[in-house]
Amino acid sequence: MHTDARKLDDNTLIEGDICIVGAGAAGISMALDLLGSKHKVILLEGGGFEYDDKVQDLYKGQTTGQKYFPLKSSRLHYFGGTTGHWAGMCSPFDPIDFQKRDWVPHSGWPINRGDLEPFYGKANEILQLGPYNYTMDFWQKKLPEMNPFPLNEKVIWNKMWQYSNAHFNQIYKGSIVNAQNIHLYTYANVVDISANEGVSEITEMIVKNHAGKTHRVRAKKFVLACGAIQNARLLMASNKQAPAGLGNDNDVVGRYFMEHLEVASAELWLFKDFPTNLYTVDWGVTKASAEIAFTPEIQEKERILNGTASMIPLSVGKHQKPRMETFQEDDPRKSKQVMNKDFDKSEELAKKEKGHILRAFQLNTRIEQAPNPNSRVTLSKEKDELGVNRADLHWELTPLDKRSIRTMYKILGQQIAVSGLGRVRLNEFLRDETDTTFPDSTNGGWHHMGTTRMSADSKTGVVDKNCKVHGINNLYIASSGCYTTSGAPNPTLTLVALTLRLSNHLKSVLAG
Ligand SMILES: Cc1cc2nc3c(=O)[nH]c(=O)nc-3n(C[C@H](O)[C@H](O)[C@H](O)COP(=O)(O)OP(=O)(O)OC[C@H]3O[C@@H](n4cnc5c(N)ncnc54)[C@H](O)[C@@H]3O)c2cc1C
Repeated sequence: MHTDARKLDDNTLIEGDICIVGAGAAGISMALDLLGSKHKVILLEGGGFEYDDKVQDLYKGQTTGQKYFPLKSSRLHYFGGTTGHWAGMCSPFDPIDFQKRDWVPHSGWPINRGDLEPFYGKANEILQLGPYNYTMDFWQKKLPEMNPFPLNEKVIWNKMWQYSNAHFNQIYKGSIVNAQNIHLYTYANVVDISANEGVSEITEMIVKNHAGKTHRVRAKKFVLACGAIQNARLLMASNKQAPAGLGNDNDVVGRYFMEHLEVASAELWLFKDFPTNLYTVDWGVTKASAEIAFTPEIQEKERILNGTASMIPLSVGKHQKPRMETFQEDDPRKSKQVMNKDFDKSEELAKKEKGHILRAFQLNTRIEQAPNPNSRVTLSKEKDELGVNRADLHWELTPLDKRSIRTMYKILGQQIAVSGLGRVRLNEFLRDETDTTFPDSTNGGWHHMGTTRMSADSKTGVVDKNCKVHGINNLYIASSGCYTTSGAPNPTLTLVALTLRLSNHLKSVLAG
């Protein structure tokens, strides 16, 4: 069922069993999982079904530190959330991503990969990916030309990816709007959260919109699914009863903001032609491809972060501008247009070139960012049109991030040379071993993580292993903000799996 909250009488009281705030990848996945259950689900979405610049403007904020995308355009603020813009690249986290690693400060989740395993399959379905199988052998049987580089398997492995075309605003609008037990309210921006006197229980959420209406929402359980930056903002801005905001007694909310560093890092020059079908997406048969990955053993030996290298023809890569340069418009639609235009132009320019384009490749890193408490979201003094303090972001990288990338290509270079395949050449910014800085051209993946991190201890995390906010009985978070460490893969498949695990937990809590 759908209601436009602008059309309700002012000060309407909305009541249900579970209230989900935000209808993006996480919120809609949870609603789909609860669809047809006996629970009355209230799904609050700040935007409508289409882009609306007034609503989008609520995301505006300042960034400092390492150059970042404009906050206004790095997320979409309407039904379907940022899946309206995402590129759909998916791969699950590795077991090592959840482990405590003594060389990665603040690492170690209170859950492991096995805890998510029962939910990855359904997450794969919700994202409309192919079979839930990410082993190279499986995909090679479908397309035998998928040929790995003959490198030492104790050092290098091939991590498989699949590609989703699931834009939730298009594919799930009907199911959500027509569901009897899902009550979707659009133009229902949560602006404040009230708790009981002891701040141990949420009593109600306050919803506002640009039509000047204010409503109240009551439920047994509340789930924040507004995205990692907005969830942290909402917790910090809800400071009537707790001066630093809800769940923030230990000053952890907003800290440990992580991105994936996606940066052109090296060139691969092959001595002779080698079939690279494994490393480029085959849109016909498999819709899958691999990235060059580094084994857990070598990560431990070299004390580096988990990362991968993907390949594009050098003739294309050298004409491409960094996305951190092309995606700088405040309007997300314009930013995407400028970026895509640049991609198309680089392909065109490459086609005009003659030479060994199949033997020279640009190697692009995708790597987790080391958790860093100084990389953080804070509340601005400036307020948005609905009266909430805006979110600002200070993105800060560490020397471990830089050393890990440099080491990855040193290892890969050695392996490629030993195998007689060719040579790897480091890009300029990686050559000086004493330089720990990153150039402005360093891309993120628009992956916001870590701001409400998971930890068994409330001193070092915002949510517990069930994504429940420490100290508050009925407040949960469904977000990549809950990631303790960010893994190398793009976040959404794991986010949906984690959300389904939370949904399962809520069902059992409500049942008994
Ligand atoms: C250009 C681009 C490319 C990307 N490519 C990939 C990719 O290839 N692979 C990948 O895994 N990820 C990718 N991502 C990231 C992916 O989009 C996010 O991981 C995912 O959408 C996060 O889901 P979410 O539900 O947490 O947030 P969102 O999808 O952003 O949804 C949040 C929802 O909450 C609503 N909301 C916000 N604040 C409030 C409020 N106060 N009250 C009510 N509602 C509110 C919003 O309107 C929105 O609908 C990409 C992102 C971008 C921008």
